[in-house]
Order: sequence, then structure tokens, then C-alpha cells
Amino acid sequence: MTPLQPARGTRDLIGDEFRRHHHVIEAARRIATLYGFEEWATPIFEDTRVFARGLGDTSDVVSKEMYSFEDRGGESVTLRPENTAGVCRALVSNGLTQANLPRKVFYAGPMFRYERPQKGRYRQFTQIGIEILGAAEPLADAEVIACGWHIQQALGITEGTVLEINTLGDAPSRDAYRAALVAYFTAHQDRLSADSRMRLERNPLRILDSKDAGDRAIIADAPTIFDHLTPEAAAFFDAVQRHLAAFGVPFRINPRIVRGLDYYSHTAFEFVTERLGAQGTVMGGGRYNGLVEEMGGPPTPSVGWAAGVDRLALLLEAMDLTPPAPRPVAVIPVGDAAEAQALHLLQSLRRAGITAEIAYKGNLKRRMERANRQSARAAVILGEEELAQGTAQLRDLDAGTQETVPLAEIPGRLA
Ligand code: ATP
Ligand code: MG
Repeated sequence: MTPLQPARGTRDLIGDEFRRHHHVIEAARRIATLYGFEEWATPIFEDTRVFARGLGDTSDVVSKEMYSFEDRGGESVTLRPENTAGVCRALVSNGLTQANLPRKVFYAGPMFRYERPQKGRYRQFTQIGIEILGAAEPLADAEVIACGWHIQQALGITEGTVLEINTLGDAPSRDAYRAALVAYFTAHQDRLSADSRMRLERNPLRILDSKDAGDRAIIADAPTIFDHLTPEAAAFFDAVQRHLAAFGVPFRINPRIVRGLDYYSHTAFEFVTERLGAQGTVMGGGRYNGLVEEMGGPPTPSVGWAAGVDRLALLLEAMDLTPPAPRPVAVIPVGDAAEAQALHLLQSLRRAGITAEIAYKGNLKRRMERANRQSARAAVILGEEELAQGTAQLRDLDAGTQETVPLAEIPGRLA
């Protein structure tokens, strides 16, 4: 049989690649805690309606990229393509919509999208993210962004990354802007891609997110929302910028940012690196004020972001991360009678917090060879003669020295 491969767009994380992923998630978890976020884990698959709410959603993620299927009981379920909807659903399902708002939630885990795989773009990928649920103030928008920037700084990967922010305004701003966009794009309809012509009817804002080269040329001259903001929406955006400056987060305004999902209003932002080509967006998010309501909860204005761990990990590739695991101690019994004592010592070492290994078979020579291959720092050799005296040979494999040590003292000597 030909050896099986991982499914298209998925991959195995092994060795350095796993360690880089782990490092990103651990750093994010640690920094998010400093900002008062608590970690939640929601299910990896959900009722499809959690993601596809009514017929309104025109984003690629929901309309083209979801892994949805009917389970054996005839329910339509979907492998989560993102986690914001799941977190909002969880807030409502667990009756948390009233108490202790705002809630600050951190998550990390796999997401699934049926995409064309390439470097930095996979069908199973990992996201970290944070959400502040139940906060309408622009300070919350600035704080989630500051936390995201802090995580990237802690990882040491901010060189070549810029934060771009935009506002999608409030409902009246967006209605006025939508009308202006429809007028503009209708005038250029014949040069738009087929996808964007369809978006023109259903959600013209989404055209601004098109990656089609022909569309991009037309988008370059499209009107921006800034001429259509209500005074309230403009003041909100000003406040976000003021707070970002106070948090010490550098940014620039990009009026083309609309984000890949449909539920945003007011703030939208992306951290983009020039070091990953077309897959340059490492973190993106914004304010979503209607999502909890769509899950059957009360109005709960919220803001958050998600970041691609795979992409952040690619930025770490050039860096030397701390070595994988501490160098082990090799416990080496000589002769069958020594094995039980060796296992006993092995466990005392591990319980003392010392990484220790035993080979499952082999004579002294083979076991020493294996210890060297594993870069063991020391070997404890238990021969029958020593055992009779309650001692073992402790060999320092770096210095090449060896001495007889009472068994009880060995964990202390290796600590
Ligand atoms: P893109 O424009 O690159 O497709 P997006 O707007 O679809 O991104 P979001 O839904 O905002 O992305 O997800 C947040 C982050 O998750 C992205 O900025 C990116 O870092 C990461 N991400 C999204 N899709 C993928 C994927 N298929 N593979 C790896 N990472 C991804
Ligand atoms: Mg996408």
C-alpha cells in the first residue's frame, strides 16, 4: 500500500515546528492573562447555524470555505472556521450575558476552512484570539489592540509589521457609505469580477476586501467612509486613536480594511507583515455589536481579534528558541537483577523533577551508545556489585568523570 499522506491543506507539527506553535500559544496565553483575560475552550464543531446565521452572510468564509456536513443523526454541523461566533454562542448558552460584564475571553485552537492551500494558508490552522464581551467603550477597542501588539512584541516579531486601522462606522454611517459605494461600483460594473458584481447587490462593502487584481484597481479610487461618518462614529474612531497613542501602539489608517467576516461595525484592524508575502495578515479583528443578539442573547457590544498561529510561527523561523527538552539522565542496569532497582531509581529521579530515561533492552555498551545519541548529561550505572552496597556509578557524560555514589543521594546530586 502506498503510504498515506495528511489530507490536503493539513500538516503534522513535529519537532521545531511544533515547538514554535507551542511557543506562540504560551506567550499569548501569558500576556492575555496580564490583561485580565480568562481562557475558554468551545467545541471544535457546532450547529451550522452558529456560523451561518440566516442568509445574510456574504463573506467567503461562510459562503465558500466552511466544512459543513450532516451527521449520522441528520443534524447539520460545521467544523468551526473561526471562534468569535462560538464564544458568543457560549456566552448565551451558559447564561453569562448579565453577570460580570465585560467578560474578557482568550482562546487557542484549530480552525477549518476549505481554502486553496499555500504557505501560511491551510485547511486546518490554529488561531489564538481574545474577545471583550459587553463593552461599548472605545477604550475596549484600544485595549484589545494593545494586547495583540504586546503579544507580538513578546514574541520579538514586530519588525516589518504595521497596524492598520479603519472604522466601519455605525449603522447610519454605513447606510450612507453603502449608497455611495453602490453608485461608484455600478458606474464601473463592467470591469468588476463576477464575484464582486454579485457582492454589489448583496454587500457592496465586501468588494473592498476583494483580492482580484482588476477589482483592486477600481477599489483604489472608491469613496471612503470618512465622508459619511456620523459625528458619533467619528468621535468613536478619534477616541480609539487617542487611546492607542496613550497605550504606545503605533498605527496607520487604511480606509480599505473591511475584514473577512460580515459582523463588524466601528473599529476594524489588521496587523500586516511584509515578511510573509500574500499571507501577510497575522492578526485581524474589530468591533461586532450584533453577534451576541444573533445567538439569542441581549445586545452585547463586543470587540476582539484572532491571529494565525501558523503565520506567527513562520515569523519565528529565523529565531533560536529555547531547546526542546532538558537533557536526560540515562539509568543503566547491568544484569537482570539490577532492573527493579533501576526502575525504582528512575521514578525517584522523575519525581524529583529530573528528566530520566531507561532503554528497554541492550548491554552496557549499547545503552551507553543510546545515552550519547540522546545527549544525556549523565548516566547512572547499576551493577550487581554496587547494588549489594546500596550504591551506583554516577558518570558525568560531559566531563567524562565517574564516581561511586549512595543510591539515596543520586537524585540530589543530579537536581
Ligand atoms: P486572509 O485575508 O489571509 O484570508 P482572513 O481575513 O480570512 O485572512 P480572519 O478570518 O480574520 O482571516 O482570521 C484571522 C487570522 O487567522 C488571519 O489574519 C490569519 O493570520 C489567520 N488565518 C485565516 N485563515 C487562515 C488559513 N487558512 N491558514 C492559516 N491562517 C489563517
Ligand atoms: Mg480568508
